[in-house]
Parts: sequence; structure tokens; C-alpha cells
Amino acid sequence: MTAAPDPMSDAALRERAARVIPGGLWGHMRSQGLPAGYPQFFQRAEGCRLWDADGREFIDFMCSWGPIVLGHHDPEVEAAAEAQRRLGDAMNGPAPVLVELAEHFTALVAHADWTIFAKNGTDATTICVTTARAGTGRRKLLVAKGAYHGAAPWCSPSVVGVTAEDRAHLLHFRYNNIRSLEQAAAMCAGDLAGVLVSPFRHDYGVDQELPTPEFAQAVRALCDRAGAALILDEVRTGARIDLAGSWEDLGVRPDLAAWSKAIANGHALAAVTGSERWRDAAASIFVTGSFWCGAVAMAAALACLRKLQAVDGIAHMRAMGQRLRDGLARQAAAHGFRIRCSGPPQMPMLLFDDDADAALGSAFCSLALQRGVYLHPKHNMFLSVAHRAQDIDRTLDVTEGAFAELAAGRR
Ligand code: PMP
Repeated sequence: MTAAPDPMSDAALRERAARVIPGGLWGHMRSQGLPAGYPQFFQRAEGCRLWDADGREFIDFMCSWGPIVLGHHDPEVEAAAEAQRRLGDAMNGPAPVLVELAEHFTALVAHADWTIFAKNGTDATTICVTTARAGTGRRKLLVAKGAYHGAAPWCSPSVVGVTAEDRAHLLHFRYNNIRSLEQAAAMCAGDLAGVLVSPFRHDYGVDQELPTPEFAQAVRALCDRAGAALILDEVRTGARIDLAGSWEDLGVRPDLAAWSKAIANGHALAAVTGSERWRDAAASIFVTGSFWCGAVAMAAALACLRKLQAVDGIAHMRAMGQRLRDGLARQAAAHGFRIRCSGPPQMPMLLFDDDADAALGSAFCSLALQRGVYLHPKHNMFLSVAHRAQDIDRTLDVTEGAFAELAAGRR
């Protein structure tokens, strides 16, 4: 007699999902873009490790696509969340922690004179754009070609189900290209509401690019000249580059910034920060959601931001990312591969030379996965405070094996 298949296995869950969920899953967590063998479903996670539905353990370098910044299930964050959960979460109005968190975040973020909270990154970027339009009475928005700012019709990377009217006032420039920025602005003829830009270029499947200081300064100068809003999309970078704002080291401050992902260590929260000039505009628009004042996520955010500061989490993530990057570079060279590790060390993107379709990168990541390390072949990855030196060294043991097997396959 053969045993009945486990209905909670990854394969069974995929089959069951395909029957009751269109396409089996929506959006970026559908394991499209990932090589065969990557799990779709996960049982649990702890620190820098996670376990898939089949019970396989991995050292995690995606951190839930960014939100996990201290490590899965951080004890201090979870204690703060649990204490608030016992008091109340979704109530008829916000809990006191809303004001505490707004005070904390406004003091932490250098350009901020005020903060609004929401749930997802798309909420935050949309609020920024609406505020910029309300504050200027204008319509046009400049965005970098290929940049991701969310999944609403005005910004989704897919045009399926989206009308031309949804995008009517969007104009594109090339990241780090001042000429194309100014050309796009010139087409707006007095109707420029804002420029929406990420702190560095982190587009899917291509090398990450840090901004040149000249480019950041040119965006600032253009917005000042035009009376438009400089909107920084910190959704992916926030709490991993600089808690005060990712362009602080460049001396460039935005008017509005969108935050989410890492600010509450995995609890659902987004924030918009703004300077005084945009306060009345932000007060004038109508934005809300049934769960936007949820107090548990706010308590989690307060604990998360305090701990990140107390342990200098960003410096730790940068050091661990550098340790990983240096090790990968040494191993790749020793095995005759040319790789490129781009972006800040704590948010690495790993691509192979002469690998336009990412076949080599995908094969490498599959070999690492089989040995217990979860990497992504096309998207930037994330370090967390829970990654310690021994986890990086264990990872490098695994990638050494993966490079060796990849090299053997080429011979
Ligand atoms: N902006 C950036 C830069 C992002 O990376 C993301 C999410 N990947 C978003 C906006 C949208 O955030 P969310 O998925 O939470 O709506």
C-alpha cells in the first residue's frame, strides 16, 4: 500500500492553489523568474533561516523581499507587538502608539516635519504622488524608465488591464542621466508636479547603480526650479542604507518620501514623510484604509527602529554583505567565472558575465538552494541583522560547492 500524498507538501499546495487561486498565486511571490526546484510555500522562519513546506531549511538572503531587517521573529519586536495585541489592534481610532511612532519617525528622518502611515509600499508612493499634485495643482510626474514603484494602475510594470489614461501624465527619464531628466522635464510645460526616484537603481535583472552625486543634485535643483516635489521612493532601501534617509550622504533631501518593507520587521506598515511646505497638501487629500491605523504594526515599528539604532544594524548588515561579496568574488575567480556584485553590500545583486538569459546565474542559485542557501538569480537580495559571520561563512561553504559543481559541468 502506498502512503497518501501529503496535502501540505509544496507540490500538493501548488495543485490545490491552482484550483482556487487565479494563476496559482498573484504577483511577485509566484515563483516565476526562479529556477525549477525553488519552493513556493514556507512553513516557518526564525532569525536568518526559513523552512519550506517540505521542511527543507535555508539560510535566507531574500528576507521576505526586504521586510525582515532584524531577522525573522525578532524577540523584541514580537514582544512589543504582542503587548499591543493584548490591548487592541484595529479599533475605532488609532492607539497612542500612532503618535509615539509619528514623533519617533519624524525625528529620525532628516527631511521630515510630519508622517502619515499606511500599509503597503504602493499606498505610500501613491500618497506621495497625490500630495505632490495637490500641493502644486499640476499633473505631470517624472519617473525613471524600468523603475518599480508599486502595483497600482498608475505605476504597475504590467499594462494588462491598465488604460492609457492611467499613465497619461507619466514621463520617463534614464536613471543617473541628467540630460534625459531635463529633456523629460522640458516636455511638461509648467505642469510638473514631481519627480519620483529611488535612492539607487535597483531594477529587476540588471546591475544595480548607485546615484552619482551630480544626478541627485540635479534632481533637487530641477524640482526647486520648477516648484515641484522631489519624491524619494525608500520602500526598498528604507532602514537599510541610512535611517535618516538614503541620500543623506549626498547632502540631498527629498520633499516627500515613501517607506514600507523593513520599517516594522515584517509587520504590515508603510509611511510617508514630508517637509513643512507639503503639510497642508498632505492634510487636504483623502487617503485611508480600514487597517491603516492598526496598532500592532506600529508597536512593532517603534521597537524595530529603536533596535536598529541601538545595535547599529545598518553597519552590521553592510559588514556581513561585504563579507559575502568578497567571498563570492574570490570563489568565482578561482573557478573561472566572471561575476558582478552590484549595489550596496547589504542589498546585493549577483549577476554573471555573458549570461543574458541568466541561465548560469539560475543554475548557480539552484545548486546553492540544493545545499541550503536561498539566493535570487535576478532580483537584489537582502541581508538582515540576524546574519552573523558564521552564517555568511556557512553560506560561503555552500557557494564554494555550487561554483565547483557549475565549473565541473562546463568542462
Ligand atoms: N517601491 C519600491 C521601490 C518597491 O521595491 C516596492 C515593492 N517591491 C514598492 C514600491 C511597492 O511596495 P508594496 O509591494 O508594499 O506595495
